[in-house]
Amino acid sequence: MTATRKDITGELLRLVLERNPFQRARVAALGLGPRPALAELPPLEKQELVLDQQRNPPFGTNLTHPLEQYTQLHQTSGTTGPPLRVLDTADDWAWWRSLFADTLSVTGVSRGDRVALAFSFGPHVQFWAAKDGLQELGAMAIPLGGMTSAQRLRTIAEVQATALMCTPTYALRLFEVAMEERLEHALESVERVICTGEPGASLPGMRLRIEECFGARCYDHAGLTEAGPFGYPCSVRGGLHVYDHEFVCEIVDTALHPVAQGERGELVLTPLRRTGFPVLRYRTGDVVVRTEERCPAGHADRWLPGGIVGRTDDMVVIRGMNVYPSAIEEAVRGVSGSGEFRITFYSERGGMDEVKVEVELAGGPEARELQELMRQQLGIRVRIVPVASGVLPRHEGKARRVVDERTAR
Ligand SMILES: [Zn+2]
Repeated sequence: MTATRKDITGELLRLVLERNPFQRARVAALGLGPRPALAELPPLEKQELVLDQQRNPPFGTNLTHPLEQYTQLHQTSGTTGPPLRVLDTADDWAWWRSLFADTLSVTGVSRGDRVALAFSFGPHVQFWAAKDGLQELGAMAIPLGGMTSAQRLRTIAEVQATALMCTPTYALRLFEVAMEERLEHALESVERVICTGEPGASLPGMRLRIEECFGARCYDHAGLTEAGPFGYPCSVRGGLHVYDHEFVCEIVDTALHPVAQGERGELVLTPLRRTGFPVLRYRTGDVVVRTEERCPAGHADRWLPGGIVGRTDDMVVIRGMNVYPSAIEEAVRGVSGSGEFRITFYSERGGMDEVKVEVELAGGPEARELQELMRQQLGIRVRIVPVASGVLPRHEGKARRVVDERTAR
């Protein structure tokens, strides 16, 4: 097994360093020999790919094959910088499709299922990979792009969708609209809610909330336009598994050294079989917990307990403590009756950094309960501002709930 994997890694490096201008130039600039091992290459940042694309528009030079072999174009959402265009060949897209189909089958989706895709029909990979993964599996894709939430609910009811794919935030939004519009019956046929795009669905509190609202099982999965669909849910114990036979997986600290067992670190991935737009030791920005233990269900692939627990660019240091918005979210979801919320990081006049969380809550006792939960789980004092239900902004895709007003950073 190890030898095989080594062979695949060696073959990828040989091909890429022979034919890919971006990777060749990178290795040459580093002064490495003509045949470096994967571990000798420094981890790759998204910014390097973005810069290359800006200098060599429109697709950049991270292309292993002639341009006419590429059939798929997607782009990153560009929330933390300019968007990046990522190309796939037909073979690479077949790899995406089969991994997506596998992930869906882990959640129990099979031939005969009707799966509602509550995504826009845009340039982001999620909708397309889901649609093609479903086709590979023989299940029916129900596109819900270009519709209001109420129209989506009516469609789900009319076609009797058996599963729903969306962000965790949007799953709760859809439930809220179902209540407002008296369309509760629309969710009755949905047996599975399959989420991605935010840490949310791996947070036990969020998952439980979605399961209660929908009366359905909720699953998380993870992928990146640049690296591929790497994570599928542990169907028994929660968290995610990484496709070990498809990715070399490392978990590193800010100095890029491997983190210790039980520690949080950034996930660094090398997809082994996607050759057209290769990323070697790619810094995903996803924060995960490292464990060398198998999941309690004994599944063979590497387990990420808690799934994606945050993003490296989300983390904020408040009075010496690392604070992830996902940890705040987990506390909010733990309080019954809580609704939408907004996090503001700000500086007091004295210069101390503080956290304020506005949250839709029933009343004072819930606010006190939340404050106590935050103190226990985050180790810092958080100012809770209860607000009335329905006043905070709603999100259709990935949620934007953090406002950073700190003066000195
Ligand atoms: Zn498992």
